[in-house]
Amino acid sequence: MADLLTAPPVLPGKFAFFFDLDGTLAGIEPHPDDVVVPDLVLENLQQLSRQNEGALALISGRSMAELDVLASPYHFPLAGVHGAERRDIHDQLHIVSLPDTLVQALHAQLSSALELLPGTELEAKGMAFALHYRQAPHHEAAIFSVARSVAEAHPELALQPGKCVVEIKPAGINKGAAIAAFMAEAPFKGRTPVFFGDDLTDEAGFSVVNQASGMSVKVGPGETVAGWRLENVASVWQWISDVANQQQQQIAQNNGRNHYGSLSRRL
Ligand SMILES: [Mg+2]
Repeated sequence: MADLLTAPPVLPGKFAFFFDLDGTLAGIEPHPDDVVVPDLVLENLQQLSRQNEGALALISGRSMAELDVLASPYHFPLAGVHGAERRDIHDQLHIVSLPDTLVQALHAQLSSALELLPGTELEAKGMAFALHYRQAPHHEAAIFSVARSVAEAHPELALQPGKCVVEIKPAGINKGAAIAAFMAEAPFKGRTPVFFGDDLTDEAGFSVVNQASGMSVKVGPGETVAGWRLENVASVWQWISDVANQQQQQIAQNNGRNHYGSLSRRL
């Protein structure tokens, strides 16, 4: 059962790291624009990336443009909009799009539907729409009914519920598929995947990581298929710092050993 899960161990080994952002690397704020990842956490992520041949990616429902701003000044491989847009280690973009006419029609339809639900907010992401109701939780049922009617009318679309949000996105797009795509490519390929996430949208990622005998980590309470759990965002920060430091020590030890080895050969 999920409640019996323990914190993930800090293990040595060759890992590929995947992190959700909101609720995992940064606390959830009333407005998504107010979210910040602390500088020290970004530095630790960059260190982890460097120590692991760049095998570290952010996997989020946000757009890649927003992820780049939040990770600035660093530049990580990214999966945005739950994987509908992906930037690989070589900066190659992999974008799933919907026909413009459909996007425009959906935008008009959703805008007028949400105007009738004060406090809700429509976020257009190009190939996806997020229907936010954090400021108006009493509209949850109405928001779901709007989203369901759109998804039922368009088989090429699927729903993705999250925390005080439901998203409408291209069918077949999910964080699990995004992680699998990274894992098929260097430098991720051949490493053990580790994925941290906090929300329903991360469950598909946990499943893919579990199938690859990796380490799936749920942040916070709630049912999950993840194998491990951390209590909150601060414990994710601590884990990242611990792993980065442990790997750093390992590298220093190995360098010391190599140095000693070459000295003894010379003697
Ligand atoms: Mg999240």
